[in-house]
Parts: sequence; structure tokens; C-alpha cells
Amino acid sequence: MHIRGQWRCVLIESLLRKHLISLEGYKCARDEADCADAIYLDANENCYDHLGGGKNRYPDPKAVRLREEISSYFSVPFENIAVSNGSDEMIDMLIRLFCTPGEDKVMIFSPTYGEYKVFSLFNAVDVVDIPLKPDFSLDVERAKERIKKGDVKIVFITNPNNPTGMLFPKDDILEIADANPGITVIDEAYAEFAASYGSLWNQRKDNRRIVILKTMSKFFSLASSRVGFMFADEEIVDVYLRLKAPYNVSLSDQEDAIRVLSDPSSTERDKDMIIKERERLIAKLEKLSFVIRVFPSEANFVLVKVKDAYNLYSKLLEKGIIVRNRSKDYMLENTIRITIGKKEEMDRLMEVLDEEEKSALS
Ligand SMILES: *Cc1c(COP(=O)(O)O)cnc(C)c1O
Repeated sequence: MHIRGQWRCVLIESLLRKHLISLEGYKCARDEADCADAIYLDANENCYDHLGGGKNRYPDPKAVRLREEISSYFSVPFENIAVSNGSDEMIDMLIRLFCTPGEDKVMIFSPTYGEYKVFSLFNAVDVVDIPLKPDFSLDVERAKERIKKGDVKIVFITNPNNPTGMLFPKDDILEIADANPGITVIDEAYAEFAASYGSLWNQRKDNRRIVILKTMSKFFSLASSRVGFMFADEEIVDVYLRLKAPYNVSLSDQEDAIRVLSDPSSTERDKDMIIKERERLIAKLEKLSFVIRVFPSEANFVLVKVKDAYNLYSKLLEKGIIVRNRSKDYMLENTIRITIGKKEEMDRLMEVLDEEEKSALS
């Protein structure tokens, strides 16, 4: 709510970094005038459009058309949606908006997505790590106990988790979110792959500090375009829109995302294929003598524990197959994360796994 230059935001004022409460962001002249047929002489662009489609002009800072499309796809109100340059940018921005360096802390649950820690440390914000329990579930009691200290400002939870692929029970997540007086970010980068998953956005009840992070990079098949978005309280959306870099998502990227969301039939088809291949891979892996454990997955990748991850990783690499060795992560010694590919690609992977099995047994 922007009332005569005053940000009257009760929720935000108590959470936002102090120096941001009154800080005005960069103002584009086009924020004030919004008429389709106007003559634009305000932003020093070249007036000639050589590539067509208005590419000579700066893109819409507020990504209105894309947010409308996201709103109708997910049935989330327009006012609760904001778009970023990949969800990675949103992770960085949320830390910069809410965490005072040297004072506030970010809470993560290892093993998890690496960027929460990287962006926290980049911003000189310390990380409190509450490792998952040996069964890869959230340690709710330890998290709540640690939150009581009062210095945790943002809690990041990935659901389904990356790199484990497992879904956390929603009650565990909400219990932590409700105990947390700061922001709880639930990163649902892979949620669309999960068999039965409704976004926790609809379960947040009156907790206005829950932020849902989404990306076009995984399920929506648009990693090159760099489009991420969040569902959040209107006040959080407003403050983000006020302070973000104005032209952070390009016109082409906004248009690509609109196209994908307005015709979801292709990605729905992909999902069926990917899940079929995932289950086929899991069944295959479970038969191999050098596999110790295959973790259940609700995402488009499978985490597998093997006897010697470095050996398997380099054997696959020799054959031109690139997977992710996660062995350096907490609790993940000798694990490999395999993204699900096309049927032919999975056939080839399985051929190489069979060769490896032969040499392991001989
Ligand atoms: C891949 C991934 C992202 C990054 O998404 P971008 O929108 O491409 O920046 C965010 N969170 C998790 C958990 C991911 O695995």
C-alpha cells in the first residue's frame, strides 16, 4: 500500500531491514503513465525496433501480463505474485530485504539446495544449519528450539527436497513456519512433479510470513529463460517490487513464460513420461550389486547411494553421461544424483550401468 510516499505496512515494518523501510526504489517514468498508444520519449531507448516485437523497449518492470498468467494457472491472486530473474534472484533478494548482515541469520536444513547458503554468505549473513535426521526428515524440535534464540530471520525449506527428492510432511513444515516469527520460504521448485501435492500456499492459513518460491526452470521446461516467482503476502510483494532492479526479467523471458503457462498440455505430457522413466530407473538401480540404496523421489531426479560414487561418476563421464556427484554433501557420502532424461538417454544410461555391473561382478 503506497500512501503519499509513506509505506504503511505493519507486517513488513517489523521484519524488513530498518534502512529499507523508507528507501524509495528506482522510479521509471512509465510507472506513472500507462497508456498503450503513448509516444515514449522517456527512457533513452533507440526508437527503431530492428528485431520486432518491441525489443527496443525496456520490459515491463512489474511483469503484469506474466503475473496475470501465473495467477490464472495457479489460482493465486495477482497481488500475491512477484517475478524474478530465476528463483535464485528471489533467494538473494529475500535475504537482502530481511537479513541485516552480522545480526540476522538464515536457517537451512542440510542436505539441501546450495544457493541458500551461498547467497547468505555472499550477503555476510550467517547460516544456522539444522541437519536432517538420518531418515532425511526435518528435525522440527531442534529447529523450533534454535528459533527461540531470536536471531533467525529467514528459514528456507525445499519441498520436495533437493538433492534427496523426498517430500516433507506438510505438518512438519507448517509447525516450523508457525514457530518462526520471521519469514519461512518454502521452495517448491519440484512440487509439480510430486504425485499429490497442493502448494502449501493454500495451507498457510493466517501465517502471512510464508513465502512460496516457484521456478519455470524445472517442470515448466524453461531453464534458459531465467524466470522464477513467489507467492507472498501483498506487503512482501510490494516491497520487493519497490526495491528490485527494475528490468530484471527480459521481455523475451516474460513472453516465453506466458506461452508455456497458457498451454500446459506439453508439460503435463512431459510429467507422465518423466515419472515413467524415473520409476524405470529406480527399478533398474535397485537390481545392481554396487547400489546400496535408492532414495524414493517425488521429483525429476533420483538420489542413489553406491559403493564408490567417484568411480561410478567417472565411468559415466567416460561414456559421455554427466550426473551429479553429491558425495561431499552432509550425510551423502557415495551418492549420485541422476536427473531423469528422455527414454533414449535413460536406455543409454542403463546400458552403461549394465556394463559397470558386469565388470563389478567379474
Ligand atoms: C533449480 C532450483 C532452483 C533454481 O531455480 P532458477 O529459477 O533456475 O533460479 C531453486 N530452488 C531449487 C530447490 C532448485 O533445485
